[in-house]
Amino acid sequence: MAERKRSIWVFGDYRNYFQNRVTLQLLSRANDLAKAIDAEVCATVFGHEVDEWVGEYIAHGAGRIYVCDHPSLKFYSSDVSVALMEKLVREFKPEILLIGATAFGREFAPRLAKRLKTGLTADCIGLDINEEGLLVQTAPAFGGNLLAKIVTPERRPQMATVRPGTFQEIPHNHQAKGEIVSVPLPDDLPKDRIRLISSERQQAREQRLEDAALVVCGGRGMGSKKKFKNLYELARVLGGEVGATRPVVYSKWADEDSLVGQADKHIKPKVLFSFGISGAIQHTAGIKDAGFIIAVNKNPHATMMRMADVAIVADANQVCTALIRELKKRIRT
Ligand SMILES: Cc1cc2nc3c(=O)[nH]c(=O)nc-3n(C[C@H](O)[C@H](O)[C@H](O)COP(=O)(O)OP(=O)(O)OC[C@H]3O[C@@H](n4cnc5c(N)ncnc54)[C@H](O)[C@@H]3O)c2cc1C
Repeated sequence: MAERKRSIWVFGDYRNYFQNRVTLQLLSRANDLAKAIDAEVCATVFGHEVDEWVGEYIAHGAGRIYVCDHPSLKFYSSDVSVALMEKLVREFKPEILLIGATAFGREFAPRLAKRLKTGLTADCIGLDINEEGLLVQTAPAFGGNLLAKIVTPERRPQMATVRPGTFQEIPHNHQAKGEIVSVPLPDDLPKDRIRLISSERQQAREQRLEDAALVVCGGRGMGSKKKFKNLYELARVLGGEVGATRPVVYSKWADEDSLVGQADKHIKPKVLFSFGISGAIQHTAGIKDAGFIIAVNKNPHATMMRMADVAIVADANQVCTALIRELKKRIRT
């Protein structure tokens, strides 16, 4: 049998397809990298009735797709996907495996890397090939103050998770052709330890937080979930989106998708409102590219106040409520 070409694989995360474009972005970058090492670009699709996603990935640059289609794979499960992917990687030996740094990818990738006894660079914001043909994985370190360039010289595959929005997807090409490899469901996959009782689609944002020209960010200083809700009203009146700090997300005042900082989203709004946020480095790592910053904090010495173009020493909730009231008045007149 002819020896297979080297390959770069992309894990197909098609959940919430219209918002979650990271698989398409990775396919695009994988095509650039493949040229440098003369490799082919492959994707995996695990699930049930997944023809639509297979077609999409081919149209966006995958030359071959490994498809495992079975009713038991209807919902994404980390345990099952890790076991299935481990088998495929051991059999087909990709050089590089790229995974979106989504909530699922962040759970799935480290477990898989551990099973395969290979390295993993998490949350990459750059991928290149060096003169030795190795994948150079660029990831922020030390709260985003340094960019580390990491290679995996010996272990395979070279594995990376990549932040959504890092690369541009290739436009859909309906004439693209790809090979489909049907993978039977292995008998010895583990049973999922999580039983899904129900699922509910998250309300879509008007626009992605990363793309919003105006962001209203809130922190613990907002005081409560009820008060935090006012920020959504302010964002609505201003035509912006709401971001949050980690304590806010952990307290469930805002959903996970709102987290701004080292651990999640890097935003670049022209105008950023920051309410009741201290300015810890893990948060400010995500707002470095913001244009004009208006911060409201009771403490004039908070780091966030020093970073701001306009610093208002006041109660965050009072300022938020007053702004909503005044803006609404102006809209009416
Ligand atoms: C590995 C790691 C990763 C992390 N990643 C992230 C990340 O990605 N994003 C992130 O945000 N955090 C992250 N954190 C947490 C981070 O270190 C901070 O704890 C967090 O950013 C603080 O959030 P905060 O500013 O809302 O809360 P606090 O630090 O508690 O600040 C609250 C602020 O509100 C002000 N305040 C209080 N009451 C009022 C009021 N009534 N009116 C006005 N101001 C008021 C206070 O003066 C204070 O400045 C991470 C931490 C670690 C260890």
